[in-house]
Amino acid sequence: MGNALVLVDVDGVLNPRDRPHRGFKRHRCSPNGVTFKLWLNRAHGPLLSDLAAAAGAELAWASYWCDSANEWIAPRVGLPALPFVPIPRFPGPETGRTLGAWKARHVAAYAGARPFVWFEDEPDATECVAAEAGVGPHLLVAVDPVRGLTEAHLALAAAWLAEHGA
Ligand SMILES: [Mg+2]
Repeated sequence: MGNALVLVDVDGVLNPRDRPHRGFKRHRCSPNGVTFKLWLNRAHGPLLSDLAAAAGAELAWASYWCDSANEWIAPRVGLPALPFVPIPRFPGPETGRTLGAWKARHVAAYAGARPFVWFEDEPDATECVAAEAGVGPHLLVAVDPVRGLTEAHLALAAAWLAEHGA
């Protein structure tokens, strides 16, 4: 079955929408020459690394940033380069899928039978990932994109991994 995965989104999870509380700094990130302004918190990386290490789990990106997260996000939040779920550009709502459903399909394919925790802010991600055929045991930790990832989210994930992760 393999080690558990801890999957992390960027926008709305590590990069909250609102001007955040202390610990965050403003960064300009320019993947492929397009500049985005992000709020990022250097405490997040060590917290996520500790969570994964305690459970013997593997951290990976689950974000439309894909590999760009390793260049632009990882060093600013205190994470090493991570594997990433390959998520192609969203083809658009005319496919009958939402952004969350498109992402969930690729997350499920990447995880296979491995248990996983997924920190995500797409509002329909929970039901979308549960509906994917063959998806393994998982916990979707729904993050409010206004505030982003909090210690309460990490505690939920740690409790679930302690029970299902090994
Ligand atoms: Mg997001």
